[in-house]
Amino acid sequence: MEEIRFKTRLREEMVDLTVQVQEAVRKSGVEDGLVHLISPHTTGALTINEKVDPHLKDDILTWFHEMVPEGTKYGHTGGNAWAHIKASIVGADLTVAVTKGKLVLGKWQGIMFCEFDGPRSRMVICRFVRAA
Ligand code: ZN
Repeated sequence: MEEIRFKTRLREEMVDLTVQVQEAVRKSGVEDGLVHLISPHTTGALTINEKVDPHLKDDILTWFHEMVPEGTKYGHTGGNAWAHIKASIVGADLTVAVTKGKLVLGKWQGIMFCEFDGPRSRMVICRFVRAA
């Protein structure tokens, strides 16, 4: 098991963790298998999407902002219900295949941590499964 620790800088942002996850895979020594990534947070989530165009990250965050607007209609006493709702929509974990020690991702794909209530200290837990 490995932990990737990082700090988000903005209230809402998508942080590309592909390089850090690949490094965790290298350290694990897994050549063929799976890496299971877990976000142990209630207002941060994990997804795979295009890593190249920064405008796309803004488009995704803007879409979520419009779908789940901030406001006073929520009952959650923490005052950040919208961030929890967005995190539930995106999801708290991901599984990525590993072949020949490399993450199996498309050329344009990256592993993104979605911050919905930053800035905060965050972590992603990496658990490895070796192919039999
Ligand atoms: Zn809350």
